[in-house]
Amino acid sequence: MSQTLAIIKPDAVGAGKAGKILAHLENAGFAVKSLRLTVLGSAQAGAFYAVHEGRPFYDELVEFMTSGPVIPMVLESDDAVAKLREEIGATDPAEAADGTIRKLFAESKGRNAIHASDSDENAASEIAFFFSGHERLRG
Ligand code: UDP
Ligand code: MG
Repeated sequence: MSQTLAIIKPDAVGAGKAGKILAHLENAGFAVKSLRLTVLGSAQAGAFYAVHEGRPFYDELVEFMTSGPVIPMVLESDDAVAKLREEIGATDPAEAADGTIRKLFAESKGRNAIHASDSDENAASEIAFFFSGHERLRG
């Protein structure tokens, strides 16, 4: 078993889609190991997406991610990082496969409902970004 980080983004939380997305993830076989609802400040959102600093969509991305509540969670399954990337679909919902979370719930390439870690290394640092030791369930 391995773990990854998902974030239900402000567009989906604001539109009342969080429950459906959580159900979709559970039905796909993920166990929810940690979860909370929070609002990111600009410094936090900027740091989380630091890898994209300087790209044309960065400022808009930080503004979007601070625009309302987000729901970060730790998900566990076999091969969790690759499995979650498959379940969320392409960044742009117009290009996402049928049945994926972004195809079902995202509004646009920017407002695309959900974040997922892209490697085991990034999953570990992104989990640590949102959850302290006593909040991280194991096993
Ligand atoms: N993004 C955007 N325009 C782009 C590329 C990305 O608005 O052309 C936003 C979008 O919200 C995306 C996030 O920036 O989810 C991070 O981009 P990344 O390429 O890492 O996509 P992801 O890993 O989320 O599929
Ligand atoms: Mg990414």
